Amino acid sequence: MPLTPSPQPGPAPAGATRWRDRAAACAEWLGEALYPSQCGLCLAPGPAVCAGCQGDLPPLDHPCPTCALPLPEAGVCPTCIRQPPALDALHAGWAYAWPLDQLILAYKHGASTRAERVLAVLAQEVAERRLNPGPDRHRADLVIPVPLHGGRLRERGFNQADVLARRVAAVRGVALDNRGLRRERATDSQQALGRKARRRNVKGAFAWHGPDLDGRHVLVVDDVATTGATLSALAGVLRQAGAARVEGLVLARA
Ligand SMILES: [Zn+2]
Ligand SMILES: [Zn+2]
Repeated sequence: MPLTPSPQPGPAPAGATRWRDRAAACAEWLGEALYPSQCGLCLAPGPAVCAGCQGDLPPLDHPCPTCALPLPEAGVCPTCIRQPPALDALHAGWAYAWPLDQLILAYKHGASTRAERVLAVLAQEVAERRLNPGPDRHRADLVIPVPLHGGRLRERGFNQADVLARRVAAVRGVALDNRGLRRERATDSQQALGRKARRRNVKGAFAWHGPDLDGRHVLVVDDVATTGATLSALAGVLRQAGAARVEGLVLARA
């Protein structure tokens, strides 16, 4: 069924509803296997996102180059001028609004294979559209997904950022490291918190356990950035591990 607008995600399913959801996921998986060439949003035959739905995606006007906040005109936002973030650049494709928000939630909480296919295509588009114009010396040579905490990973069964990072690494033809960066403790959802609380929430939450990043240019990938506090915390950790440059890539900026 095509996605319809809904302002709030419903509560997590439990018991019988969970089985019903699993049956629906199986039916969707079968549909995907039988009819892979249809738009994941409106189900029209053709590419994963048809031209009409592509035009419906919420635009992000004049994003700040370091935090992706939309601005009235091209430039750096006052917050980033006052306090430059640890991240060298943040590339975001769209605003976090309908229908992209529903698609991201359908994937994260419903493991929708259709949403996964569309989001991977959109991650590829962000990589092609936003990363290519940069100078060669700024090009990332390592892609790292934002990790989930072990408990949440077990509960969900997959890390949505990992799927997006794989596609970005494949498109860019660079290595992927999805083991070195770890979330040492579970953190609250950033969306419900204020700016200061967000920074506190992610402080010390991540650690690097991989090899020395000696001078590497790292691209950290996630589905959504709220203020960029998580990505900034990660950038600090990766710099400590030796990275020379850290950029972020997300589908949507909330
Ligand atoms: Zn469509
Ligand atoms: Zn900014």
